[in-house]
Amino acid sequence: MENSSRIDTRSSAAFQEAKQLIPGGVNSPVRAFKSVGLTPMFMEKGEGSHVTDIDGNTFIDYVGSWGPLIVGHTHPAVLEAIKATAEKGTSFGAPTLLETEMAKLVIARVPSIEMVRMVNSGTEATMSALRLARGYTKRDKILKFEGSYHGHADSLLIKAGSGVATLGLPDSPGVPSSVATNTITVPYNDLASVQYVFEKFGEEIAAIIVEPVAGNMGVVPPKPGFLEGLREVTTRYGALLIFDEVMTGFRVHKNCAQGRFGITPDLTCLGKVIGGGLPVGAYGGKLEIMSQMAPAGPIYQAGTLSGNPLAMAAGIATLKLLGEPNVYEELERKSARIEEGFTANAREVGVACTINRVGSMICPFFTEQAVTDYESAKTSDLARFNAYFGHLLDLGVSVAPSQFEGMFVSTAHSDEDIEQTIAAHREALKRL
Ligand code: PMP
Repeated sequence: MENSSRIDTRSSAAFQEAKQLIPGGVNSPVRAFKSVGLTPMFMEKGEGSHVTDIDGNTFIDYVGSWGPLIVGHTHPAVLEAIKATAEKGTSFGAPTLLETEMAKLVIARVPSIEMVRMVNSGTEATMSALRLARGYTKRDKILKFEGSYHGHADSLLIKAGSGVATLGLPDSPGVPSSVATNTITVPYNDLASVQYVFEKFGEEIAAIIVEPVAGNMGVVPPKPGFLEGLREVTTRYGALLIFDEVMTGFRVHKNCAQGRFGITPDLTCLGKVIGGGLPVGAYGGKLEIMSQMAPAGPIYQAGTLSGNPLAMAAGIATLKLLGEPNVYEELERKSARIEEGFTANAREVGVACTINRVGSMICPFFTEQAVTDYESAKTSDLARFNAYFGHLLDLGVSVAPSQFEGMFVSTAHSDEDIEQTIAAHREALKRL
């Protein structure tokens, strides 16, 4: 259906209009398809594993709203929960039982979380977790990893991944240098550099914040021993270990990445999946640390819409679906099939390719090198990726418009969808 090559579409007209009104035509940068040089589809509807744009083109969708839609689009149980809740009121600014139910589900399933606070986005979760870590340890510096993205708070927009990597803006104007000096960055998976930094600044570092599986430089798994090493060094120096599980939370394991790898951080940030497609974030951890937050303690953080009933209802419905038997086994099976199919295609067509996968997060890089950090991710042939992306769209498969993002498989993807995707991938490689 040649979506990417058509220019006089309803989407392209809509994009022209939006560009006059919204910076770059979008409310989040990567949506503009700028780096791939195409016009974004404006979406009309989603159902299960598919999305349909306003021109009537339908795609098998692996964006999944950038991770939240692990049970697919418009899942009946999630929709029903949202509708039933909305009829009773959309927001009160007062406590509701749904918030307690959500807290119970999160605490039961996330090993490190004894107490949790809901916010409205992943950015708010990481920003608040940093404030808490700094307030609790009475230290200012933090350590993060190059090519990791933790939302757009000042302290974290330093050598960041995701859209800022895609657009080549890793250090954004507008972040005061006085703030930036408190953020130390080292390569992902490089424990020796972490240890060196702690030897120099250990007494000043409040926390390490890490994606336990990096998902914003493409997908990069932690090397064996890396997360263990972070746990050890933070404990030794009295710093906190913050797992940013905004993307990996309930995505890579029923107990999040910390359950998958058996590491217990001090604080955990969540988002995406726990909102079931509505705006949500959360941060939680040890009782002793979390009880420093106002009004229980002195560290301040608040939100007009925090714990919003609709978001709680969608999130609770999603978490309940994820609690059913065999969900993660099935996600693993389907995702492994994609990895296997893509690997065979690359070999057959003769295209250099390294495929990284952890659970239902998958990323094919156009490089022969092993991808273990942001430097090696950048060896991917980005011109190739961009062409591949356009061909995949033409073949009816939608993935994130950036090499520095992964594909998300959902429970709604059927075996037929997956085989169709593998066939489209083979054809896209042939067209390169
Ligand atoms: N942390 C991680 C690991 C993320 O992947 C993201 C978003 N992709 C964020 C934080 C920020 O979340 P949000 O976009 O909801 O602010």
